[in-house]
Parts: sequence; C-alpha cells; structure tokens
Amino acid sequence: MRVKGIEAVRRILCVFPRYTSSFGTFEYAYPLTDGQKAFMPPQGLLVLAAYLPAQWQVRFVDENLTPATKADFEWAEVVFVSGMHIQRQQMNDICRRAHEFDLPVAIGGPSVSACPEYYPSFDYLHVGELGDATDALLRRLAEDVTRPETQVVFTTRDRVAMSDFPIPAYELADIRRYMLGSLQYSSGCPYECEFCDIPGLYGRNPRLKTPQQIVAELDKMRELGIADTVYFVDDNFIGNRKAALNLLPHLIEWQKKTGYVTRFACEATLNIAKRPEILERMREAAFITIFCGIETPDPDALKAMHKGHNMMVPIMEGVKTINSYGMEVVSGIIMGLDTDKPGTADALLSFVDESQIPLLTINLLQALPKTPLWDRLEREKRLILDDDTRDSNVDFLLPYDDVIRSWKRAMELAYEPAKLFARYQYQCDYTYANRLKVPISPEMKTWKNIRRALIMLRNIFWQVGVLGPYKRVFWKFALGRLRHGDLEGLIGSVLIGHHLIMFARAASSGQQNASNYSIRLREASVPAE
Ligand code: SF4
Repeated sequence: MRVKGIEAVRRILCVFPRYTSSFGTFEYAYPLTDGQKAFMPPQGLLVLAAYLPAQWQVRFVDENLTPATKADFEWAEVVFVSGMHIQRQQMNDICRRAHEFDLPVAIGGPSVSACPEYYPSFDYLHVGELGDATDALLRRLAEDVTRPETQVVFTTRDRVAMSDFPIPAYELADIRRYMLGSLQYSSGCPYECEFCDIPGLYGRNPRLKTPQQIVAELDKMRELGIADTVYFVDDNFIGNRKAALNLLPHLIEWQKKTGYVTRFACEATLNIAKRPEILERMREAAFITIFCGIETPDPDALKAMHKGHNMMVPIMEGVKTINSYGMEVVSGIIMGLDTDKPGTADALLSFVDESQIPLLTINLLQALPKTPLWDRLEREKRLILDDDTRDSNVDFLLPYDDVIRSWKRAMELAYEPAKLFARYQYQCDYTYANRLKVPISPEMKTWKNIRRALIMLRNIFWQVGVLGPYKRVFWKFALGRLRHGDLEGLIGSVLIGHHLIMFARAASSGQQNASNYSIRLREASVPAE
C-alpha cells in the first residue's frame, strides 16, 4: 500500500548512515567475501521508499556502501534519513551536508522516535512508526519543499497495519553487496526487560505481516539476487508463537519450491527451547542461526533485569536443545550490571567454554532513554550524560576502570583464536550436523555459484592462511573441514570467526567501544564527495 491523494511530483534522496564500527558491522569479514561491503539492507528507508506516491522519484544511498555525492544532493528536493542511536553522529552529519545544498531534511526511525532531542538541526522529525505522521509529512512536502523556519515534528498516532505494509523497495538497494538479506515479519515484544526500549517503542502486542507478504518479499529478493541468508530482523521471532507457527509452513513450502538455496536466521527469546513444535519447523525451513539475548548466565542478574523468561529452561540445556535442531545460538551478553561481582568475567568465560557458543556480542550496559533502566538510574542519580570519555552512561556499582578491564579481558580470552575455532569445530560436529539434509539444487551447481565459493576460498586462504596472524589455528580447522568436504562450514565459520578475532583484538587494545550504544562515537562519518 502507498500513501494516497498526493499529486505533486518530488525527488527524494534516502540516505542510510554509516554504522560506527561494532561487533555487528562485520567489516573484517568483507575482504574475505566476493565483494560484499555491508551487513543488511535497511528495512525502514526501503519501506518508506515503497510507501511514497508512485510518481515520486527516489534515490537510495547506503553510506555503508558508498557516500551520497554532490550530484545526489543536487538532484534531490528532499532528503530522508533513518537510523539507530549508534548512527547518531553520522545522521547529524548527513543533515549538515544536505543543508549545504539548502535541502529540507526529514529523519525517522528508532533513534529519533526514542530521542527527538538528539536531532535539533533536522527540519522534520518523524516520531513513531509508519502511519498518520508519515502521511502528514508527505503532504507537507508535496505542498512545499522550502526549509521550514523552525523544526516541525510529526508524531504517529495511527499506525499503518503491518498487513498493509508495502514490500520494501529492495530494488533500490544493491542487494548483492550485502552479507545478509533482511526481512521483517513482526514488530514489538511481549516482555519488558529492564534495559530494552523495544516494548516502549513498538508495543507489547506484536503486530504482524501476513505469510503471503513474507513469501512475496522473499520472491522479490530472490529475483534481485538475494544473498544466501535472510535475517528476520524482528526483535523476537516468537513474540507471538501462534503467528510464528502459522508462518513456518509457508517458509517450508517456499524452500521446497525454490530448492533450499536460502538459509534463515532470526532473533528470539531463549525459551524457544521449550517449543519443539516451532524448532522442528524452523529446522525444516532451514533456519540456521538464532540470536538469543542470554545477557548473563547469572540467575540473580536475570531476575534483577526482569528477564526471568530466560530461565524457563536451564540456559545450558536451552542452548543445546536449539543446537540439536541444527541452529547455532548467537548470544548477547551485558557486562556492568548491578549484580556483577569481581568474578563476573571468569564466570562469563566459563559459560562461553561450556555453551560452545562461537559468537557472543559482549557489551557494556548502556541506559537507553525510554526504558525502565533509564528511569531507575535517573532516580538513583546514576546516569552520566556529560562525560564523553566514558564507554557507558551508567555509573556502575563496581569501579568504572575495573568494569572496563573485565570487559577487555573477556573479549581477549573469549576470542582467543584457538578457543574460538574449537567452538566452531564443536558447532560443525554437534550443530551443523543436525541440519536438514537437502539435495544440492541445480542452482547451487551453477558456474556463478562455484566461482563465488572459489573467490571466497582464495581470499580466505591468502588473507587468513598466508597473511593472517593466527595461521596455525586456521589451518588446523580448515584442513579438518576440507577433509570432510565441508566448504560451507569452512567459509561460514572463517568469515565470522576472522571478524570476531580481529574486532576483539582491537577492542581489548582499547580501539573499539565497549558498548554498541556508546556515546563515545569514534568514527567520523563519511564526507560527501
Ligand atoms: S525479550 Fe528481547 S526484545 Fe523483548 S523486551 Fe527483552 S530484550 Fe527486548
């Protein structure tokens, strides 16, 4: 569905800002691929682009791939920007650059919706999801594209039903240059973890697209040359379990129809381990990874952050259950919690060893506005908002330097190459081995696909096996995989593993932030050409 009743014609430049380097930006993996340069196409701007009046012309630039140019700004009448807190500095920089061309700039998305005050220079703020605010903004721009004298804020009261969402304009993005495809089925989460802003921003009653929309999106991505893996960006894939169960048979059908060339990944709460009926169907639909916000192995800490649902099954048992359906667990971990003790890093490292989870995003606690955590720390006068030398805005109960030291130690030891590749070896033997065995489809045997694999292998052997800083560990793992004829396990593990090792080395030597949401934004955004 598109906005209706607008007759003017406009030229819209949608610019997605660069990410500040983080665990999830995978920049050390890209040189090993066959030309991928960014993680996932952004959903928000592509949905908005598809919602604009059909006669409006749209250009989309993802600055993680290439900067918006002078020619782009000269072409445009209006600039749209969207992003998360971690992209705040870059979003403000895009606004500055657009204003050099006297263009009105509108910002939407999760960061401005939570913190409009972060964006004082923008002409238009779009607060909330796609809805009546979007229509009002577009009508205003249809009437007038001069910059308003003062900032205008549009706030969504009536949201567009997700079942009426248009298919994101994937055709505007150079989809083959992304490591993963992205897809959204639902929005919102029924839980209320203390640190999380999702329920506050998107509600506790998940809103849903229809399975038919999802299949249509998959078909479109496939036509455009989809990446091998599609990530469901929903904050909790089982936020509505019935809906997940309803969707999965459609995904299985789609996989059968298209020859199982695509893999899926998603985010879900760890209590998915209690749902064998969902896990079995996910296995059949070729889900290979679930990101679970485990946060901490300490039950007292989970209780304190209102994440008791992580203990509905013992954590270790939950991880092994998910592995038994062929799915690798990726875990979010938070350090700097009020319940942390001097021995927390050691307990975490034991958990890493025992769980055999290769990829854990280990971040420092950061208080996000509009969360119960923010409100509590504000009451306790423990928010530090004016010190940009810190990696967190939380006044920890343990001394700050001790917390940072623990975090660096955890990063260094968790991503020690021999340990990491031992965990990947475990995954190959005990997780990947449980995946659905499907015949290799003719599509996978095309010269294009074979060439892709060869390019990645060449890059991996040269850059990690010959030039890399952990050659012995690499070759031990790689030769084992080659002996088993497991190129998929080899390529997948090394792409991610190499990023983790290199990122962790930068982190433990103080060159990376300890929090994905850190106010300490080190990377300058991309200048216009
Ligand atoms: S389960 Fe995940 S998405 Fe839901 S409130 Fe907790 S952290 Fe947020």
